[in-house]
Amino acid sequence: MIQLNELTLKYKQTTAVEKISGSFIPHASTAIIGPNGAGKSTLLKSLVGIHTPEEGNCSCPICQENIAYLPQMTSLDRSFPISVLESILLGHWQKRGAFQQLNQVDHQQALDALDRVGMRGFAQHPIGKLSIGQFQRVLFARIQLQNAPIILLDEPFTGVDVNTVERLIQLIKRWEKEKRTIIAVLHDLDQVRDHFPHTLLLAKECIGWGDTDEVLNHDNLSKAWSIAAGWGKV
Ligand code: ADP
Ligand code: MG
Repeated sequence: MIQLNELTLKYKQTTAVEKISGSFIPHASTAIIGPNGAGKSTLLKSLVGIHTPEEGNCSCPICQENIAYLPQMTSLDRSFPISVLESILLGHWQKRGAFQQLNQVDHQQALDALDRVGMRGFAQHPIGKLSIGQFQRVLFARIQLQNAPIILLDEPFTGVDVNTVERLIQLIKRWEKEKRTIIAVLHDLDQVRDHFPHTLLLAKECIGWGDTDEVLNHDNLSKAWSIAAGWGKV
């Protein structure tokens, strides 16, 4: 179980997340919802260990290398001149270390992962030429290949076409059946209500955390967004 204990995250003077305590239900999927600037991305970064807590801590049962993490699209560089297949195999290479040869089985697994997201035919395409939706499918294939027990997704569907969203949601459901723990930052409340049983509603502080139907009520949502309306005003 991933547990947060009075977790506070800051950037110099800016508080991103304030005194959050609670735990993510293991082997289930949780959505993180909140206005812009609510600390959602920073919270995921602290779970993977790339943002150190100011106060409190988060405890995780497995080492952080076993977490698969998909950062927010805006922070990814696609200008790197490699093919779709190479970008998938890089996921393997990171795990194995630089001096281990990738073998035929690795190649086959990479092609299977691409198949699962409908991108096998694009294996030799340069990643820079893909649409946002196609690129996101490739990143999901890479996560699939990592075979991690915990999967963090930061706005995986922003700017992505409807067909791709549908397909990737099915993949998330499959990961859930495989008893993985999935934590996804999302914006579409209907999507969350339909597919994510648990929700953390964040506005730097925790507004609600539990069953999606209980957390996403009118009062909580208006509270979160009215807190956000005050940010930037002194
Ligand atoms: P969200 O993902 O919910 O939109 P973030 O975690 O990106 O929120 O940001 C939370 C707060 O931290 C915001 O006030 C944001 O301006 C600030 N922030 C985010 N990243 C940085 C950064 N690299 N340097 C300074 N402040 C940051
Ligand atoms: Mg964000």
